[in-house]
Amino acid sequence: MPITGAAADPILVALGGNVHAYLQPDGGWGLNNAGILVAPDSVTLIDTAMTIPRTQRLRDAAAAASGGRPVRTIVNTHHHPDHTFGNALFGGATIVAHEHCRTRAADVGLTPTLDPALECGPVELRLPDVTFTNAIQLFLGDEPIELLHFGAAHTLEDVVVWFPARKLLFTGDLVFSGATPLVMDGTIRRYFATLDALRSLGAETIVCGHGPITDASCFDPLERYLHFVQDVARDAFAAGKTPLQAARATDLAEFAAFAHPERIVANLHRAYSELRGEPDGAPIAPVAQLFREMGEFQGRALEWHLSLPCSDAVHRVAFA
Ligand SMILES: [Zn+2]
Repeated sequence: MPITGAAADPILVALGGNVHAYLQPDGGWGLNNAGILVAPDSVTLIDTAMTIPRTQRLRDAAAAASGGRPVRTIVNTHHHPDHTFGNALFGGATIVAHEHCRTRAADVGLTPTLDPALECGPVELRLPDVTFTNAIQLFLGDEPIELLHFGAAHTLEDVVVWFPARKLLFTGDLVFSGATPLVMDGTIRRYFATLDALRSLGAETIVCGHGPITDASCFDPLERYLHFVQDVARDAFAAGKTPLQAARATDLAEFAAFAHPERIVANLHRAYSELRGEPDGAPIAPVAQLFREMGEFQGRALEWHLSLPCSDAVHRVAFA
């Protein structure tokens, strides 16, 4: 049920009693989804939010959904700021993530990712307390839930949260529902194996990292897109085009219907890196350059709708 009536405000969706998806429309840059899992005496969150005001809203929603139970555990699906910057607002919680999530969050810190003009609020870095490599089990009351890492894809450290008894899967940013995938910090060539592993779970309900709740039909177009990027990159790389030139010369075809088509530029940078034989997650162009080029591709700076109320704050980040 909506927390408020405004279409652009966060939406809380009940997924069977004590599990809720917390959706931040429209799922664009910085507007991630989270999970609110209510145990008999506490709450577990799947990810937080990017700004203090948005994380306060998430905290309020968790309190309302749980009758005021404390947030004791947070799962970070990966290190990106829209999923982790709100961690520090839950000082008593134990944060669980893949080991690379802690490393990457510490390396990136708070500043290089975004223009300081973005109003994230007084964000503090709060790193995961408990890390793992492949899998760990948590209990929601008596119900076991699984935190699984299938390999590098969107990042090096993607973790999904799997509820076997419900056939419910929170994917983090391994899936953007209705939007273009993003692999600037991850890998294309290994993404396919991760998708196969996700398919094998047999999920029927999927809460992805951004966008509406979906189902297993989300995997096929994502896989086709990744092959498409590889194909475009192979030809353009051989022809000596830059990723931006290649993106501009490309007909996105069916993928033009995805939100944020500008991500093709950053994704081609990653594909070029792989064609050069560089390792997974190797540094590509500086983040500021990637965001600037994506803005050049779409003809205007990227827009971040990060403040609340959602309707009156659009940050156009130029990344000079
Ligand atoms: Zn991400």
